[in-house]
Amino acid sequence: MLSQRIQTLSASLTIEIASLARDLKAQGKDVLSFSAGEPDFDTPDAVKNAAKKALDEGKTKYTAVAGTPALLKAVADKLQRENNITYAPNQILTNNGAKHSLFNLFQAVVDVGDEVIIPAPYWVTYPELVKYSGGTSVIIDTDDNSGFKITAQQLKDAITPKTKMLVLTSPSNPTGAVYTKEELEALAEVLKGTNILVASDEMYEKLVFGDTKFVATASISEDMYQRTVTINGLSKSAAMTGWRFGYMASPNKELIAVMDNLQSQSTSNINSITQEAAIVGLDGTINKEVEAMRVAFEARCNEAVELFNNIDGLSVVKPSGAFYLFVNIKEVSNDSMQFCKDLLEAQGVAVVPGVGFGAEGYFRFSFATDIETIRKGIKRIKTFVQTLK
Ligand code: PMP
Ligand code: GLU
Repeated sequence: MLSQRIQTLSASLTIEIASLARDLKAQGKDVLSFSAGEPDFDTPDAVKNAAKKALDEGKTKYTAVAGTPALLKAVADKLQRENNITYAPNQILTNNGAKHSLFNLFQAVVDVGDEVIIPAPYWVTYPELVKYSGGTSVIIDTDDNSGFKITAQQLKDAITPKTKMLVLTSPSNPTGAVYTKEELEALAEVLKGTNILVASDEMYEKLVFGDTKFVATASISEDMYQRTVTINGLSKSAAMTGWRFGYMASPNKELIAVMDNLQSQSTSNINSITQEAAIVGLDGTINKEVEAMRVAFEARCNEAVELFNNIDGLSVVKPSGAFYLFVNIKEVSNDSMQFCKDLLEAQGVAVVPGVGFGAEGYFRFSFATDIETIRKGIKRIKTFVQTLK
């Protein structure tokens, strides 16, 4: 009864583990969850007020599929002002979260037999979307020794005549790695003269630490601008995970138009109230709140890295952005799924096994939670690891 295609699709491991932790908590178990990639902060008031105003003004009807003219302008202005990339309104599509942006993109460009290059560790969703489109993922492995970043040579070696797209995620979920301008330029050089698209997932753009600078892939050169689809949203930077707002931009109007068609036959426009709220999320009104969250994430990151690196048997590279630590457990386990199950059972601590991100020998720890819980959780992880030595 089920289609072949749907039978290839797995559930999102990050969502599964977060739900499992939630269920255990609801049963009264003492569970600390570091599984979800979700800020613990509340959505800034200005965004909430814009939504309330939208309701009061009766902005409760269908809009254009891509989004209202005011929202498309807010996205275009944001990309120009903050990333120095120019898009017209008909080069932008807004979606029900950046996950939906990615879904539309993969459906629109990946055919059976096409290859999509994905650097690992990767966010769990990409290979599933490739499978669902009938394509093949070509994984480039990286590890903590290379700072979890691919090199130009690795990219060159992965390209075949079937390569359709490269997925870049900077800052990365799950490693927090951020590509420098020079590193992006080196990758851009390899892509020159090919027809390869780049899906640049910039969800964690605002969350960079120390002197790390975020550079938008499409801003690297005219050549990269032409081949890149920029994907972003407000879930992480503005603590708006539940609002479901994401967007994508590409100079290729035909590509945007076919994704608009797809969306017109599936979800239509995104929630009209969210659209009004997103304008305020994008236009700079909440800059102070976003920066305050970034500062808090950075402080937690610094402390958590130190605590983990004091645990005999574990090690972690300090991330340059996002809100995850990708902790190396190779000294104590070669089965991250088992490690995470046992940790949850023994200490009530939920983290996500590295194997789900295409990298065995690690787990992902989200520090998007308060510092007291982080301290308590890492202490429990230490107790657990001591039993393995
Ligand atoms: N990209 C990355 C790298 C992510 O971690 C996530 C997870 N939230 C998304 C996209 C999707 O975000 P959302 O659909 O909530 O906008
Ligand atoms: N992206 C977040 C994460 O990696 C949320 C869960 C999901 O969408 O898969 O945890």
